[in-house]
Amino acid sequence: MAIETTNGGDAQDLRGATVRSVRRKGKTLFIELRRDRTGQESEFLLWNLGMTGQLVLTASDEPVAAHTHVRLRLDDGREELRYRDVRRFGRIRWCGSQESKRVLSRLGPDAARVKSKTFVKLLEGRRGAVKSLLLNQQILAGLGNIYADESLFDAGIHPLTPAGRIPPSKALALHRGMHLVLRRAIRSGGTSFRDFVDAEGNPGWFQVRLRVYGRAGQECRRCGTLIEKIIVGGRGSHFCARCQPSPLNLDSRRTVGRTHE
Ligand code: ZN
Repeated sequence: MAIETTNGGDAQDLRGATVRSVRRKGKTLFIELRRDRTGQESEFLLWNLGMTGQLVLTASDEPVAAHTHVRLRLDDGREELRYRDVRRFGRIRWCGSQESKRVLSRLGPDAARVKSKTFVKLLEGRRGAVKSLLLNQQILAGLGNIYADESLFDAGIHPLTPAGRIPPSKALALHRGMHLVLRRAIRSGGTSFRDFVDAEGNPGWFQVRLRVYGRAGQECRRCGTLIEKIIVGGRGSHFCARCQPSPLNLDSRRTVGRTHE
């Protein structure tokens, strides 16, 4: 796997650099590197793990697992930071602090940390489908397709609902649902796919018990209705039509109500 650079360097240049800080925002890890030379600006590795990427700190003499694409030798070679990625959707960018700041500034608030008030404000006045908004990293950073679908199910919101038309009480439910889904996923070590196996052929990590994602045609765990799949903003979106009523149905119900007045 190539490390894309915007500072014209090659991987050998990382020799002797010290890791000064590691932070995460949304799906991006920012690893700050500094060299001993005085006056030298920090450099950054911006690391996106993609769908199946794993970054593991390990002793250097541990056997190297299959699909390991990057090994960074740390601490005089005693330890290594190894990057493994079965599907290779991950991305590493090596850049200076200006570029790092630019990337950081383009990310919306972090999904796992955003306060409820801020979250409710993010939805206000937006005409687009809430599902697309949840995936837009410039508005909210950190949710991928699986967690967006699961959060919407938890809150009982149809993926096509225009974000700005979600009442505050429902927006708060979505905020709670999102945090619940993320906490659950982090506790169990991430989400695993059926075809994801490790070097020994064992299923990877842990299985999060998904409610809707990848369950089209199966019964809703809450009400038994068959889970449906539609495309929203180019992404497969899974939902239960009973637990997550369509915004169009809500409209027609309101219209019917009015005709009887
Ligand atoms: Zn249901």
